[in-house]
Amino acid sequence: KQFNQLGLIDPILKALEAEGYTHPTPIQEQAIPIVLQEKDLLGCAQTGTGKTAAFAIPMLQLLSAKPATRGPKKIQALILTPTRELAIQIGESFTAYGRNLSVSNLVIFGGVPQGPQVKALRSGVDILVATPGRLLDLIGQGFISLQDINIFVLDEADRMLDMGFIHDVKKVVQRLPAQRQSLFFSATMPPEIQKLANTILVKPEKVEV
Ligand code: AMP
Repeated sequence: KQFNQLGLIDPILKALEAEGYTHPTPIQEQAIPIVLQEKDLLGCAQTGTGKTAAFAIPMLQLLSAKPATRGPKKIQALILTPTRELAIQIGESFTAYGRNLSVSNLVIFGGVPQGPQVKALRSGVDILVATPGRLLDLIGQGFISLQDINIFVLDEADRMLDMGFIHDVKKVVQRLPAQRQSLFFSATMPPEIQKLANTILVKPEKVEV
């Protein structure tokens, strides 16, 4: 299949062309139409399969279709990922695929001063990419509200478990609106991860690569 057979809009197809992407990877071919239908997704995929684009591309399309609201922007989408490196890569992907759209993203992670992140949050973002600890910190200080989140992505769920972040992830999930679309990605599906997926997803479509 080609990208232009997946229901994607022109500004996104042009951005993918500019990135030098000629064909969707298997996870992209399967996941993009599901996400565009606003369904929940359980994706079993490792890094290197193109899973970031598999969620970032259709999310950009869904968010670009929402009418612009007046006043300060509210965070509409949240991606939780275990490491600073992954967070940065995901942010860069949203920027690249969204180059022809006006959908903004911000990346936040721990181990650096929070000042610049708080300042960026104040100017308003559509998509927030975050590691769990810093996110909970900034929520606790009142700098972030999750109440307008329409789309939630849990990236690398099994690594969250390995790195001891599962409790933090659960705390974040508790703060999300019940009415939302959720996308859950993990390279492996041990019972504890399957259990977590069951608490986050509603009637998910399953994709395995
Ligand atoms: P990921 O699995 O999301 O970490 O992506 C792995 C790498 O593949 C990244 O460097 C992407 O830029 C690249 N990539 C993702 N999708 C495609 C595609 N359809 N064609 C070519 N490269 C891609």
